[in-house]
Amino acid sequence: MKYIVAGNWKMHLTHSEVLNLALELKESLIEQSRKIDIFVFPPTIFLKDVQDVLFGSLIKTGVQNMYFQDEGAYTGETSPLMLKSINCSLALIGHSERREYFKEDDEMLRYKLLACKKWDILPILCIGERLEERESGKTEDILASQITKALDKTEMERLVIAYEPVWAIGTGKTATPRQAQEAHAFIKKLVKHIMEKDVPVLYGGSVKVENAKELAREKDIDGFLIGGASLHKESFVKIVNEFIRMKNL
Ligand code: PEP
Repeated sequence: MKYIVAGNWKMHLTHSEVLNLALELKESLIEQSRKIDIFVFPPTIFLKDVQDVLFGSLIKTGVQNMYFQDEGAYTGETSPLMLKSINCSLALIGHSERREYFKEDDEMLRYKLLACKKWDILPILCIGERLEERESGKTEDILASQITKALDKTEMERLVIAYEPVWAIGTGKTATPRQAQEAHAFIKKLVKHIMEKDVPVLYGGSVKVENAKELAREKDIDGFLIGGASLHKESFVKIVNEFIRMKNL
């Protein structure tokens, strides 16, 4: 199982800024991308151009969101068939911002996972509890419910999970290494029970240069999904380097 560090660029940056960032990463992460998987998730409108910039490098480009139907009257959506037609085989599924602002529920995410399976797209399924759920001791119940509902009868062969506590995304608050480790161990055990295999579990939620080292030290943290700090070459590259160093790669 390879470690993964991924950058989610969300709805940030203009066309030229995105291409510039992609080029800087291509030039800065040559050695690192031989040791771990490095993924970037640009805005969909720039996906193909980023792929073109990254052509010849080992950095992979994915989509932040996709619909589950192959085609049809679904204004504004992107289908797995379209993604495959530009050789995109990587998708974030169920980011908490999709769940919250676009009302994606576990049933929809299950369909999206099935679409990934059908089209051989590697899904990074994002899960995580809200602050009030953590404070009332429901973290494991929420994680278990999100996992079991999304994976129900999907028989996924390939999957990555991103544990992203909702209260830590874009807030500057990070889960402590211990909180993250406990959640990751729980997720891994449950997913192994369901899928009968180990899957990588990434941590996401205000990962920065300052906290990357102590998080990467935890044994069940197999990588990071990074928002804000992935928008700048310097911080993203530093986090990648810190991760590689802490895992002794
Ligand atoms: C994310 O976008 O998945 C994320 C974790 O964002 P941030 O690192 O900005 O909290």
